[in-house]
Formats: sequence, structure tokens, C-alpha cells
Amino acid sequence: MLLLKRARVPAAVLPPSVAGPAPDPLEPTVVCDIGIEGSKIASVARSADAAPLGGAPAQGTSDLDGAVVFPGFVDAHVHLDKAHTWERAPNRSGRFSEALDVLARDKENWNRADLMRRAGFALHCAWEHGTRILRTHVDTWLPWGEVNHAAMQELREAWEGRITLQTVPLTGIANYSGPEGDAVADLAVKYGACALGGWSPMSQDLPGQLDRLLAIARDRGLGLDLHVDENGDPREEVLRTLAEAVIRNRFANPVVCGHCCSLAVQPPERQRSTIALVREAAIRVVSLPLCNLYLQDRRGGEFPRTPRWRGITLIHDLLDAGVPVACASDNVRDAFHAYGDLDAAEVYIQSVRIAHLDSRLSQSVGMVTTAAADLVGLPDMGRVAPGAPAHLVVFPARSFSEFLSRPRSDRRLVDGEAVRDARPPGYGELR
Ligand SMILES: [Zn+2]
Repeated sequence: MLLLKRARVPAAVLPPSVAGPAPDPLEPTVVCDIGIEGSKIASVARSADAAPLGGAPAQGTSDLDGAVVFPGFVDAHVHLDKAHTWERAPNRSGRFSEALDVLARDKENWNRADLMRRAGFALHCAWEHGTRILRTHVDTWLPWGEVNHAAMQELREAWEGRITLQTVPLTGIANYSGPEGDAVADLAVKYGACALGGWSPMSQDLPGQLDRLLAIARDRGLGLDLHVDENGDPREEVLRTLAEAVIRNRFANPVVCGHCCSLAVQPPERQRSTIALVREAAIRVVSLPLCNLYLQDRRGGEFPRTPRWRGITLIHDLLDAGVPVACASDNVRDAFHAYGDLDAAEVYIQSVRIAHLDSRLSQSVGMVTTAAADLVGLPDMGRVAPGAPAHLVVFPARSFSEFLSRPRSDRRLVDGEAVRDARPPGYGELR
């Protein structure tokens, strides 16, 4: 038994009976005592007395003195197979097109050893930052791609019990309509994929291709997790086209859309009607603010150029319409995003700034915890509640303002009844 006294927990991750009806908009936390038995949280209650404990703490009791505590994070959209390729495959213009070209050339380096080294390091970083669930997209362009899925399967087994690693194949949506369409799905299923994925530009053929993709997914009992509209062109409406296809096909399995950037640059009436369709189709959205901030709004031949647009989708409008939204890392240290460390706390803190989530601070916590866990189909995770896994991250901050103001990695990790300092790996491990 471990009793953590005076943990400052975001209300959004607590049971309603502990969270109370209306969190403070600036300090949406509750100071709690958390009891842990074995690998599970046994009890959560408001701390009866916020005063310091008198005398020596009882054995098995730790006074956190109001430190901010999150549940283990859920990172709902990453690319482990591309991670940490920056040094050998940099994106010198920062453009989407160069990212595609550079990484297409780099794929000749992707073998088992290379993937295990880079993706293994990325997982180690995520683990030491307190993440417990990762959903990675896996490049799949048959006949090339099996080595990627095999490496992810190997890593999934190696990290079992620490990180739940979900995989989704990433290919052209049109490929599902070609002769290899079933083969892509079967390969992904063979290696444990949790959904089918892909991306596509707008085209006249897209509605038919989506009908085919939905049929393939339905045959295998899978949902979808697609990259859509990762650009600033208002004519790109894959999100809308997909919502129409989901409704037309009465597709009931979970559908997730990542990015949805171009929605933000469309006329307001079009935005409203597309969001209404997304809501009707029960589509969930993952925003990737760090990657979007880096990659979007690099226009024309001008370089350097000051960006005018932050690149993110309409997070607030989607939430207002009742569409579930998560925020996630996307790429780290590759041609699509030069930076990052699979640190969900960094993603959250930066998303608050980029997307003005200060205006709905309590709800926003869910984007890397509760809402993200629901979105990846693991609704017991990302919560501080009786019966939930005892995965906690303790930050050296005594208020939400302090937590948001000084991004740092010197945090403590609670795993069952064990508490230890986080130790992100040095870059030397990448060699
Ligand atoms: Zn992505």
C-alpha cells in the first residue's frame, strides 16, 4: 500500500464525485490523497487537510505537498518509424514536399537494426516522460513495409507492461482500391494493427476509394485512423468527404482523423457544415499542434519567411460541436518536424499556448489523458480513479500556472507502489 498525500490532480482526470461540479478556470485542480495497492489505484479522495503533515510520515505514505500530478499520458498519434532520422535526412526548406522527398530517399536505410535503434530510443524517451500509451502510424507501401511492422511488433512485445503500443498502417488511400488493397490490410492485421490508416489528396475518385476502404475495414472488424487535410489549401476537403462516406456507408467502427488543418482556412459556413457532418459521423479528431506549427504556412518560394498561420485545426469549434479532440506528438526529429522528444507534457503545454487552450483549461487536460484514452479505445487509461492503473507523473510544480510556465523533464514517475525519478536517455543511446 502506498498513500500519496496532497497530490494536485487536474479535475478532468478525476471521478466527478471527487472533481466537484465546477473547476476553477485558472487552477482546474483538486488536492487529493491517492491510495495505491499493487498495480492499481485503490482510492482517491480530497485531502481533508492541506496543512503539512506533522511529524514523520507513516511508512508507505508520501506527502507530495501539493505537487501537480497527472495520470500516465496517452500520445494518440506518432511516427516511430521516422523518428530521429533528422541528422541523415534533414528538411532544409521546412516544406511538406521536401519532407516527403527526403524521407522517401531515407527509406533505403530502414532495416530491422535501424528501426529498433531509433524507434526503441523514442519509446524510451516517451516512457521516461511518463507516457503509457502510444499509437504509431507505420509506413506501408507494398511490397515495402513489412520490416516496419515487424519491428513495431518486436518493440510492442519488448515494452509490454510499460507502454501499450498501437499500430496503424500508413499508405495511400487509393492503394486500398488497387490490387494490393486487401494485402495492406492483411499485413497490418498480421502485425496487430488496431485500425487501418492512410492519406490522400482530394480527387474525384476519393468517395469511391473511401467506400472501398470502409468495406475492407468493416470486413476485418477495424476502424480507421487517417491523415487528412494536412495543408492550408481550402479546396482540400478530405475530412468532409470522409464524413459523408462514413454516413453513407453507416460505418459504425471508430474513425479518427489526424490534422484537419485546411478546415481552419475555409469559409465559416463551410466550416460549420463540415463540423456538423463530422459530428454526425462520430469522427474523433487528433490535432498535432507542434508539427503543424512547424510545417504549415511555408508558402511560395520565399525563405526565410514569417509564418502568418499557426497551422492547427479548429479545436474549439470542434469541441463546441461535441467532437472529441486529442492532441498528440506526431513526428519527432525527422523531416516533418525537426524537434520534439515524445514528451506529452511538452505537447500539452505547447498546445495550450498555440491553441489558446487557456480558455478551456480544465477540458484541455483531457487531450493527452482522458479524451486521448477514449479515442484510442482504452477508456480506463489516462485517469486518476479507483480501479485505474497506478501510473502517475509527479511534476515539480505547486500550481497549474507553475506547471504550464516552466516546461521541464525533472519529474517523478509512479508505477504501482514504486516511485522513482524520471531519467530520459542521453542521445548517446542513439548511436
Ligand atoms: Zn502523422
